[in-house]
Amino acid sequence: MAQAYIVFFGPPGCGKGTQARQARDEFGLVHISTGDLLREHVSKGTPLGVEANRYMVRGELVPDNLILRIVRERLQRPDCERGAIFDGFPRTRAQAEALDVLLAELGNTLSMVIEFVLPLEVSRQRLMARQEGRADDRPEVIEKRLADHQIVHQSVVPYYQAQGLIRQVDANRTIEAIYADVRALIQEALR
Ligand code: AMP
Repeated sequence: MAQAYIVFFGPPGCGKGTQARQARDEFGLVHISTGDLLREHVSKGTPLGVEANRYMVRGELVPDNLILRIVRERLQRPDCERGAIFDGFPRTRAQAEALDVLLAELGNTLSMVIEFVLPLEVSRQRLMARQEGRADDRPEVIEKRLADHQIVHQSVVPYYQAQGLIRQVDANRTIEAIYADVRALIQEALR
């Protein structure tokens, strides 16, 4: 049976969440957004959520051990057997290496990394215009998250480049145009 584990990688505001939800609905892949999982913990007030929120409100990365705990938990649920899209994860080299180990434990490997390419200025404009009411969509925090993404990029992209897993998509287009490319790439990954 066709199966694929795909990382959606890109700066905040690149639209990868929207693309991931569309791909989830079309291909039946599970959408694993560490940001969404963390926000769920925060709103439920779990100990993990309380701890994670100290970093999130400042736009800082949540420590790897907390992130890996929620990803492991999510990946172990049976609905992930057909594959998954990782959104906002991995964000460090250690997370990328740990993901390989988690997938290996399940007898799988990462299929592809789709990199959403967007100029910094466009990313900034989109976040400033975003009205989701998120606590971290404030101007000072936005700048921090944008700066951090540069570091995330430098830590994660070379790791996947070395494995030949990266496919780039121009994210400075309409949702429909981007999805046409994403769709074709997922079909390639599922083969
Ligand atoms: P996101 O919704 O992906 O923009 O994530 C929102 C916030 O959650 C980030 O600014 C981080 O504080 C935290 N976060 C989400 N995913 C990760 C991750 N993989 N590693 C570290 N922190 C994360």
